[in-house]
Formats: sequence, structure tokens, C-alpha cells
Amino acid sequence: MASRARELNRRKTVESRAGRRCEYCRAPQPATGIRYHLDHVIPESRGGTDDVGNLALACPTCNFHKSDHLSGADEQGSDAAPLFNPRKDRWDDHFEFDPRILQLRGKTAKGSGTVNRLQMNHPVQIEARRHWVELKIYPDAPRQ
Ligand SMILES: [Zn+2]
Repeated sequence: MASRARELNRRKTVESRAGRRCEYCRAPQPATGIRYHLDHVIPESRGGTDDVGNLALACPTCNFHKSDHLSGADEQGSDAAPLFNPRKDRWDDHFEFDPRILQLRGKTAKGSGTVNRLQMNHPVQIEARRHWVELKIYPDAPRQ
């Protein structure tokens, strides 16, 4: 079992690397009042390690829907699209934000599969995004 100091250090490393945003939907942790999860990009149940190189900062909504899945349904409806991997993929290559409707869209099958699997456009997320956009902290926040 990891020591408390090691766990805090890991959290600090992951949060800092992520800019304190969900690495999937970009929800800003400081604006939620919720401590985000340390997501295992490759789930431990699928052979992923507990190393920081396999961890991503994930909001509870994304983490809950991601669960131990490795793929999601793309726009063709097949369940074969691999999920976005924050340790290997660039967010901007796979997702875009439409500020008119406050929704995230996949630019690739991987992006679409991840948007669908993680339910990144759930009405609760959209409502929160409306506030974050008004505060000018979504999809990008000023550097701190
Ligand atoms: Zn999220």
C-alpha cells in the first residue's frame, strides 16, 4: 500500500501535469469544489500499472463512465474506437469545443468514441460549462 506522502506527491504531480483540469472533458477542478480522481488510463484490471505514467486527472463523471472500458462507440455506432489516451494523444487532435451549444465533439473516431463512452455532453456537464464559459475558464483557463 502506498504511503500517505507518496500518494500526495503522486496527486500533486498528476494535478500539475493536467493543469488541474479533467484530461478528458477539460472541466476545471478548482471550479467544481471536488477532488478529481486519479484515473488509470489503462485500467489495472486490464494490466495497467499504478505508475504516474499511467495516471490521468479525471473528473468523477468521466472516471465513472470510463470505468474499465478501453473503447467507445464512434459515429458509425461500432464499439471499437479506442478511448483517448491522455498520456499518448493530444487533446486538440481528437476533440473540439463548440461554444454555441457548449458541447464537445470528436474530431476522430477515438475522439467520438471517448465523447460517447464518457458521456461528455451530459446535460449536467453542459450546464456547468455554461458557467465556466461565462467565467472565461473553459475550454482554456488563464495561466496561473
Ligand atoms: Zn471529465
